[in-house]
Amino acid sequence: MKKKKKGGQDMLRVGLGTDIHRLVKSRPLILGGVRVPYEKGLKGHSDADALIHAVIDAILGAMGGPDIGDLFPDDREEFKGADSGVLLKRVMRILKRRGFGIVNIDTVITAQRPRLGAYKGKIAARLAELLGLSRPRVAVKAKSAEGLDAVGQKKAISAQAVVLLVKENS
Ligand SMILES: [Zn+2]
Repeated sequence: MKKKKKGGQDMLRVGLGTDIHRLVKSRPLILGGVRVPYEKGLKGHSDADALIHAVIDAILGAMGGPDIGDLFPDDREEFKGADSGVLLKRVMRILKRRGFGIVNIDTVITAQRPRLGAYKGKIAARLAELLGLSRPRVAVKAKSAEGLDAVGQKKAISAQAVVLLVKENS
């Protein structure tokens, strides 16, 4: 990996994103672009993919903004029921335009139910595909909330993501 450029310009940038959506009946559960079988799904203006939203906000944060709400306002008809994978691809175009590449991305999904252990490999593979990264650069961890808080009470699912960007050209 390239280190600092002459003139001391920062080459590496870190970003953090978090998201939470309420679990409701009559919605599909989509996490990282993967449909997970469950009796409920996440409520939101778009497809409410909390993991992809956290990833988007991490990437945008590492670039110094804007944030996901600035870019995809939830009062815009255009984004109603939107496939968050498509939104992520738009963000990837912004990233490339600004001359950044992704070094790696690490994520956590917190869900009391359903148990996601059996799906995290598939979710990581789909995320890697959407981001155009090799599989080892993308990590997806799944954990429960130990019965605590809204996630622990099965009312919501949350996600966190951190991303490391490298400036590839400037
Ligand atoms: Zn969201």
